[in-house]
Amino acid sequence: MIYLDHNATSPPWPEVLEAMTACAAKGLANPASQHAAGRAARAVLEAARDEIASYLGADLSGRPADRLILTSGATEANNLVLRGLIGDPPGGLIVSAVEHPSVAAVADELERRGHWVARLGVSSLGCVDPAELDSLLHQQRGGVRLVSIVAADSETGVLQPLADLAEVCHRHDVPLHTDATQAVGKLPFDFRQLGLAALSFSGHKFQGPAGCGGLLLRADLHPRPLALGGFQQSGIRPGTESPVLAVGLARALARWQSDRDRLAGALASQRNRLESALAAGFPGLIVHGRQVARVPQTSNMAFPGLDRQALHMALDLAGVAAATGTACASGSSEPSPILRAWGLAEPIVGASLRFSLGPGTTPEEIDSAAATILAAAGRLLARRQPTSDRQSS
Ligand code: PMP
Repeated sequence: MIYLDHNATSPPWPEVLEAMTACAAKGLANPASQHAAGRAARAVLEAARDEIASYLGADLSGRPADRLILTSGATEANNLVLRGLIGDPPGGLIVSAVEHPSVAAVADELERRGHWVARLGVSSLGCVDPAELDSLLHQQRGGVRLVSIVAADSETGVLQPLADLAEVCHRHDVPLHTDATQAVGKLPFDFRQLGLAALSFSGHKFQGPAGCGGLLLRADLHPRPLALGGFQQSGIRPGTESPVLAVGLARALARWQSDRDRLAGALASQRNRLESALAAGFPGLIVHGRQVARVPQTSNMAFPGLDRQALHMALDLAGVAAATGTACASGSSEPSPILRAWGLAEPIVGASLRFSLGPGTTPEEIDSAAATILAAAGRLLARRQPTSDRQSS
């Protein structure tokens, strides 16, 4: 199989597995235990936590310092920051129209509970306009408790202008959270330099372990916990922490940092190779967001005249793994809400597939995948009946 679904999950680097295995083999104690073995486990955990936070650009020198809350992944981190900061009585939340379900569904739920929620639209190339955020915050006059804008959406990879959005939020004294799940480990990312207040990420998207991720928080932010329990992680996310998972996350980010320009360049060049081959072989192909800044591993394309589900299935049978949308929404046959938010015509949305690459994706795999995709698309086009036949059948 040629695996082009790394935005759904990407296998860990071998050195991540080695570091985690070595850590697990130590049989560390519970890092919350007060005896020497517990303190040793805590030292491993905290060293990994500091390493992860530093890679992401946290300020660990302040008193208090920025805080990294380890979670089960980005879904939990997004829930924690949105639910935890919105507070009582009902307040305001601004999100974009291109959020992952772990932000969009929480925003819907908060709205049902009486909070005021605005969803910023995007341009026809998927970008949020900072000026629109500015005027919305002016209108709301202090009622907004949090702005949450995805760094790069999971389906097209289009990057939002985070530094400009952060500057607007700063002027209005409103914290800006970003769901950076698809951007961390793909592009250089600096929490403090960007002026962010909170950032979510997930290990399995950047060749780290699955089932863990985190929420990086500016020092002054204290979200209410989602679950009550012990004192771990300042009570914001109680429960026993895993040094093994933290070590895996840190190692994956270290691997990325040590070679990031080459890795990002290689991803972009494989992605461009795929897009060029498909554009040459499929007249009318539309590459969503090609004209704007995108993360390098993601390509979302419309094959006008085809049905995304049929093409996805044909590719699966032919040994190419792609995606009809974000994995968290698969199972739903609904076309992409993200592409709909771009204002694209339904037949284009319904003809779009996502291909996402990993650091191990080779040019040979790209060439072979392109040939398979073109052959499958050609077969499906040939099988298409004229509309009048379909209506009478
Ligand atoms: N946000 C984005 C942008 C994502 O792509 C994903 C994963 N599809 C998530 C959040 C959820 O991440 P996790 O699997 O760690 O819960």
